Amino acid sequence: MSMSRPATAEVAAAVAQTARPVTFPVTAPPEPGQCIEIAPGILWARLALPFRLNHVNIYLIEDGDGYAALDTGIADDQTKEAWLALLSGPLNGKRLTRLIVSHHHPDHIGLAGWLCERFGIPLLTSQTGFLACNNISLSPNALGADTYRAFYRSHGMNDTAAEMVATQGNYYLRMVTPLPLTFFRLVAGERLKIGARVFDILSGDGHAPEQIMLYDPSARLLLAADQVLARITPNVSVWAVEPDGDPLGLYTRSLGSMAASLPEDTFVLPGHELPFSGLHTRIAEILAHHEERCGTILEAVSEKPMTVADLVPVLFPRPLDPHQMSFAFSETHAHVNLLIHRENLAWTKDEDDVLRVVLATR
Ligand SMILES: [Zn+2]
Repeated sequence: MSMSRPATAEVAAAVAQTARPVTFPVTAPPEPGQCIEIAPGILWARLALPFRLNHVNIYLIEDGDGYAALDTGIADDQTKEAWLALLSGPLNGKRLTRLIVSHHHPDHIGLAGWLCERFGIPLLTSQTGFLACNNISLSPNALGADTYRAFYRSHGMNDTAAEMVATQGNYYLRMVTPLPLTFFRLVAGERLKIGARVFDILSGDGHAPEQIMLYDPSARLLLAADQVLARITPNVSVWAVEPDGDPLGLYTRSLGSMAASLPEDTFVLPGHELPFSGLHTRIAEILAHHEERCGTILEAVSEKPMTVADLVPVLFPRPLDPHQMSFAFSETHAHVNLLIHRENLAWTKDEDDVLRVVLATR
């Protein structure tokens, strides 16, 4: 397979040459039930999450006589109450005009169905986001199929973690209300007018397929969802449904094109953690982080052939519970598949159908 794609290390180096440091104009996030006007007519609030990453950012964008909401939090009573408190408190009883959802992960889409029904507002999201959520809802046990179990086994995943992955659909659905029956499709390259602002619609793959971002060129302001976060790197995973997929390649290319098309002084409003400036520096850091992990894998594999499961503790040396293990496994797999696509690694199969990677010979 021969494809020309930019080497991410080169992109990182090029970007780093000109870039300004990551800075945080506001260093304290909004308190529960409160909003911060983070840019003219854009309110920033936080909703709690019951995970190690304990919050998601949502944004309310002035839209005529009300606010367009971006992202929702997960479907639980606490989050519903938080929404009602925001509307009656900081939003002064103003109405919601529409709901924009960046991607189909439960912390971003979880309450979409409830919000749209309760407030009679339309849902705007990517086609893939809408279909991905519905796909899981229609077939929550799909990942339990023998083919997928065999996939995880062939890569050395243990039974507990495999069971975790197989039942992930049901876990997802506990955090998501059923979507509205119709939606408005957001398409990269088109524009979306919200109140006085006109946003360019961008999309990026890797963390979630066709994740939507909104860029206001007149203010150089980017609603980045989970594509670029200030301190953590978003999860990028290979799933059994697309075993040879290269989500990390998609992700790094998306970052490369963002660095090429968005100005250095872009103000980033992300889905988690603090809003920041210094987009190019942060992109360079994330690209360098993934290159370093690829280097660590190549070093380990140069010693002996390894399964994806063998490589998990190489990248994640700390003890992992089964939930963390399933994420760590899929993230490790993403690095392995990138190195396969780059022809740095190749698969070998033993007589038990276990797959290991070896250094590719050229
Ligand atoms: Zn996400």
